[in-house]
Amino acid sequence: MRTWIGLVGMAVLLVVTGCGGPPEGANAGERQTEAKEAEETGASDLDRSLDELVAARCEHGIPTHTCDACRYEVGFVKVAPDLVGPGKGLELATLAARPLMDAREATGEVVLNDGRAVWLSPRAPGVVHGIRVDIGEKVVAGQVLYEVDSMELSEARATFVTARAELELARATFARESDLFERRICPEKDMLEARASFQRAEATERAARERLLRFGLAESELQSPPQRPPGPDSGLLAVRAPFAGTVLERALGLGALVNPGDRTLLVADTSRMWVQTALYEREVAAVLELQTRQDVRAEVTVPSYPGRSFAGVVERVAGTMDESTRTARARVVVDNPGNLLRAGMLARVRLLMPAVGEALAAPSEAVLDDEGRQFVFVRWQEPYFVRRPVRTGRAWPGWVEITEGVSAGQEVVARGAFLLKSDVLRSKMGAGCAD
Ligand SMILES: [Zn+2]
Repeated sequence: MRTWIGLVGMAVLLVVTGCGGPPEGANAGERQTEAKEAEETGASDLDRSLDELVAARCEHGIPTHTCDACRYEVGFVKVAPDLVGPGKGLELATLAARPLMDAREATGEVVLNDGRAVWLSPRAPGVVHGIRVDIGEKVVAGQVLYEVDSMELSEARATFVTARAELELARATFARESDLFERRICPEKDMLEARASFQRAEATERAARERLLRFGLAESELQSPPQRPPGPDSGLLAVRAPFAGTVLERALGLGALVNPGDRTLLVADTSRMWVQTALYEREVAAVLELQTRQDVRAEVTVPSYPGRSFAGVVERVAGTMDESTRTARARVVVDNPGNLLRAGMLARVRLLMPAVGEALAAPSEAVLDDEGRQFVFVRWQEPYFVRRPVRTGRAWPGWVEITEGVSAGQEVVARGAFLLKSDVLRSKMGAGCAD
């Protein structure tokens, strides 16, 4: 989201930069003249050499690429240097030979991350007392989601208070009898009986304490128990979120009786989802072999978000094959920004496997299209970028092979290039600064 806002901000800035030329009226006239010239020469900037473009002078008598009104005619854009860099509007990539990748496609299904999704239920039977969350709400670890009023908890608290009191009494009795015995006032038998009573009271208190801990009470809540009898709220048992996540399902009504094991609230951390897919036998071997050296990356797409892919990693491959389909189940863990992926969605999974060889490649986002011509924006000299035609070859997820047009070591705009493109095209269509 932040990137998106950044890009919009930059688009606005680019438009403003492009409007630094002569006044509106003159501008329109000049554009017509320029368009006529372009028609006469019949040459797109994509068909002219870079030297020719750099040498071109516009009718304002200056090199065209330096002219705010005309540089778009030669495919140049000017970008403030502070908009270029990782995490900013434009990100650059240096062209280099990259290992080829094969993409193997399979179908899959988005499911919840089992380790981070849980149906909650109370630890003791009780009547639902207060519900504090609803479906779709985000919760933090430890947050109270609802409470039940539990007779069992109430009884357990009472038992604990009694056991605690009896323990104190037994401790005092034992101390007194020990003292009397040492002073030869009472027989040893009395002291031994008092010690046995004290030990029994200790065991009873410990059992009562542990029972309360099993209900989910914190040790700190038991440090100084009230010496008074438990009050009317002593049976209130809080059900808390075990981790940060979102409430996905709710099967819970005020006043209903719920038991341990009942499915009352489904809480899941959906920031990373699982995609279950299936691998054919030959892929299983390749994936397992690759996993010994590096992560096996995958790209996941879903019909709900065409053109968008989610990055993932193959985490597990089942140890057995399904006899009827000759496949093994595999689990891809996938980042889920914005919680766009939902459990139950059908997905396509592209596993990225190394292939033999290398190729000069650019990030897929860097290569743009204008009326069937492919091009990239190359960094020329600060603060200028110029679009140059390229031919592309093989493609694999995230990358495309460049067979012609630019060479290794050149910097191209990898992210945000589409904004530069829209700027060039807007200018070519003769749109004024007003829009
Ligand atoms: Zn000019």
